Amino acid sequence: MDKATLYKKGDMEIRVLRSTCIGAATCVVYAPSTFDLDDDSIAIVKNGQWDSLEKIIAAAQSCPVVAIEVYVKGKKVYPKG
Ligand code: SF4
Repeated sequence: MDKATLYKKGDMEIRVLRSTCIGAATCVVYAPSTFDLDDDSIAIVKNGQWDSLEKIIAAAQSCPVVAIEVYVKGKKVYPKG
């Protein structure tokens, strides 16, 4: 079972599949106001102002192991299908 951590802000939700994340950190490069790595080099979502939805999706798409899921108003917008 994958341990997912859920973060919510407004209409947006980000789910980080922590046991899938390999700490590649490309999400941090694409959306630095949203993602960071914790002390175990696993992605977390920051408090405060997030990046735009476009940047967050680009960050999710950049993840080599698809450890980031993005939802808007409860609908999954990435990954599709
Ligand atoms: S890009 Fe994916 S694997 Fe890399 S830190 Fe972000 S969530 Fe983890």
